[in-house]
This record gives sequence, structure tokens and C-alpha cells, in this order.
Amino acid sequence: MNNFQPGTFNFKTIFDASPYPIFLCIGEQMTVFYANAATLSSWGKTDTVIGMPFYEAIPELKDQPFNQLLLDVYHTGEAYFSVDERADLVVDAKLQTFYFNFSYQPYRNPTGEIIGVFCLATDVTELVKNRERLQASEESLRLAIDAAELGTFNSDLEKGTVYWDERCRELFNISHGDALTYKDDFLPGLHIDDREKVDQHMNDFVFVKSLSDGNLDIEYRTMSTKDSKIRWIKSRGKVFFDTNDKPIRLIGSMLDITDQRQTEMRKNEFITVASHELKTPLTTVKAHVQLLMRKVEKDGDNFITGSLISVNRQINNMITLIQSFLNNNILMEGNLDLHYEVFNVHELLKEVADDQGFIILQHDLILEDCEAVMVSADRGKIGQVIENLLSNAAKYSPNGSKNIISCKVSNGQVEIGVKDQGIGISKNDHKKLFERFYRVNSDIIKNVSGFGIGLYLVEEILRYHKSKIKIDSELGKGARFSFFLELVD
Ligand code: ADP
Repeated sequence: MNNFQPGTFNFKTIFDASPYPIFLCIGEQMTVFYANAATLSSWGKTDTVIGMPFYEAIPELKDQPFNQLLLDVYHTGEAYFSVDERADLVVDAKLQTFYFNFSYQPYRNPTGEIIGVFCLATDVTELVKNRERLQASEESLRLAIDAAELGTFNSDLEKGTVYWDERCRELFNISHGDALTYKDDFLPGLHIDDREKVDQHMNDFVFVKSLSDGNLDIEYRTMSTKDSKIRWIKSRGKVFFDTNDKPIRLIGSMLDITDQRQTEMRKNEFITVASHELKTPLTTVKAHVQLLMRKVEKDGDNFITGSLISVNRQINNMITLIQSFLNNNILMEGNLDLHYEVFNVHELLKEVADDQGFIILQHDLILEDCEAVMVSADRGKIGQVIENLLSNAAKYSPNGSKNIISCKVSNGQVEIGVKDQGIGISKNDHKKLFERFYRVNSDIIKNVSGFGIGLYLVEEILRYHKSKIKIDSELGKGARFSFFLELVD
């Protein structure tokens, strides 16, 4: 460093090696006096252009402003800067569009007289094109969002700031233009019956990474303070977490599903009425069949007994199905009433096992040792949960295989499990099984009757009991479904 002599510093070597285009034009003709390799490459030319006037060296630029700009700098002495300037150049024998950021600086001789123009440029073609692509995709996203009448929102969960677009504000009837907050705008905009539920779901599920994985998928009602108009909204989104799993941002969309909901409610009303109408005569038929069974059993006619058992089994299947429709509709309205009572789990399991053993003849149904423990829950609904699990165990496992009901006590809780040796369920399907109307897409399942609401009901009934269904299964290796209930003394 001590031997450094500024006078001997060779700028040309640096310019030659520069990845940025650098050139110098001299005189009224703007003769190309110097152009580094990066310049020649961006012009698509060789060093034969050195010594040629600028507009002859790059004839395709004749009708573009560059030659004039160079001359302006040459005559006025004022530097010129440009950003994202388009240049159409013949490169690789094709006229192509490029973009440059560049500066044209007057170049003076030692006496200060302007003798040329010095140019330093950066090729920003990729940047500009990427930006254009991004703008185009943002535009098409915006068009899709507008066409679907989606509202979009973006919340900074750390600062508490919420950005809602016009559509979201409209869905919540927000007329002020001020900044919005979850507490002052979102929650009060909800229908009073949904406020607590939604708030709880957000805090206890959506913002807890281990439970939701950050996925928001919720339906709720908003209510206008002006005209009390109720709207159903479906909101989907994604929460982003920091490295400590603290939620920091929520981005998502809102869709008005009021019409869809009303159609669904009309359909549900019809199903409810039809189910009730079907249930009453069916119950009478069942009673008569059971009377007949008792009578025939005494007479010892095996053929008639066998037929009546089959009829009874089919009636039970129909009653279970009708019950599922009724429960599904009750859940859709969000009105599942639980009738809590203290009961003995072992007795309930025994009852269900006896009943189901009678219906499911093709399987070996085993009730493993179970202590006489007491829980407080809706006995009928918990019975339905176990019936559903048992009916699936039978449907999705081969005849003659074992279905096991188990019941284990630990830490003040009882774990109830239903295990089969059937077709099993791939891990990819585990989460989706509990969605309404979801059925695994496979040839075996297509040949087994079902609507895909059984497990949805199971999960909902348990959720109402503040319990959770757990699944343990792999494809081809059977399945075990289990849940916990709190013990009472
Ligand atoms: P359904 O049995 O009427 O189709 P469910 O909601 O009870 O509806 O179950 C949803 C889906 O989960 C079933 O279609 C099936 O694909 C799968 N499934 C449920 N239980 C089992 C099981 N024990 N073994 C294998 N697959 C099961």
C-alpha cells in the first residue's frame, strides 16, 4: 500500500474487467472511443464498433433517444441519469428488449473542455421483467379476487394492526375509514351468538401452532348494526409464527356464503322433516320385529329366526343412518344439547357391545376388561360415538376379524378405544377423515355404503364434551380410534 502511486493506477484494466457496461464516445459524431466487454455483450456487437459513430455502431438505436441524449450531455455539460430505460437491441441476431439504469457524464480534457460523454450502465432487464410478471400476476389475482367477491385481510398480530380491504369492511358493515382492530371492529361485528365461540377458536386453536398448524378455516355470522341483516361468512387463512411458535401475522380471505347457507338450511330442514317421518314408522316396525323374534325363538324355527335377525339388523342400520342425519343437522345449526349424567362406562360399553354384537354378526367383537368407572357426560351421545366407531370397524375390516373395545384408566381419566384389523388409513387422510362428507378415495371404500358423516359427528360430539378423537392407523394395518373422558368420584 505504501508504494501506491495514484498516477500509475490503471483505470482501463478495471473498466475492462467490470461486469457493468462502460463506454466513452468522443466528438460531435459520438464516435465510440472505448467500450468494455460488458458493453459490447449488451449491445450484441464485437470490438469492430470501436471508432464508429454511435448511431452507426448500433443502427437499431437510430429511432430511439440514446444518440440524442448523448449529444445533449455533450452540448450542455449536464449529466443525464436514467432508470429502467428501455433499449431494443439486436443481440444473437434477434431484436430484443432490454432495460438499463445508466448515467451519461460529460467527459472533459485536462483544460476542462467537454470532448465526449462517458457512460456507466447496469443491465436491469431481469429485474424489470420480474416486476412486470409480478404486476401481471398480482393483477390476475386481484381480478380473481374481485370475480369471486373475496375480501382479503392482513393482520400484524404483534402490533395489533389489521388491514382489511373494501370488501371485508363491507361484509362487516364498517363505514369509518380509520385503522381497524380485532377487539373494536372484528369481534363487535360478529353476531352476538358467535362472538365468544369465534374468539375462543382463534385464541385456543388457530393461534396455537401445535393444534392448527396455523390454518384458519371458520364460518361465522356478521350482523349489521344498521338493519340487523345477518350474513354468513366463510374465512380461510394462514397464521405465520416466529421461531418460538408465537403467532405474528395472519393473512386470509372472507367470502359471503349467506345464499349457500340458506339453501343448505332449507335442504337440512327437508332432511330433518323426512328423517323424523321415517323414524316413527321404523321404530314401530322394529318393535314388531322384536316381538316376532321373541315369539319365534320359543317355537324354534331357525329359518324365520335367521330372517328376522337380518331384518332387525337392516332396521338398526337405517335407524343409525337417520340418527346421523338428524344429528348432522343439529350440529349444522350449532345447537347440540348435551344432557349430562353420571354413569358407569363399563355398563355403557357392555350395552353397546351387546347391541352391536347382535347387529354385527360377521365379526368377533371383544370387550376387553374394563373397570366400573364413573364419568359425567351425555350417555346417549357417547353411546352413539362408540356405535359409530364400531360400525366403521365392522365396515372396513374383513369378515371374521377381531374388533376390540378397550377401556383404560389413568391420571383421572378413562381412555375408550375401538380397534380393528381392517384396511387401515393412510397418514395423509388422518386429518381429513373428520370433515363432513369426506370418504377416503379408494376402490374398497366405494364398495362400502356410507355418507362420510359418522366421524364428523364423532369429533363434534367429543368436542362438545371438551374431548378429542385420536387415530392410530396405517394403510393395510388396521385402525384404532380412541378418546378420553374425565372420571368423577
Ligand atoms: P362413512 O363410513 O359413512 O363413509 P365416516 O365419517 O364414518 O363415514 O368415515 C369417513 C371415512 O373414514 C370412511 O369413508 C373411510 O374411508 C374412513 N374410515 C373410517 N373408519 C375407518 C376404519 N375403521 N378403517 C378404515 N377406514 C375408516
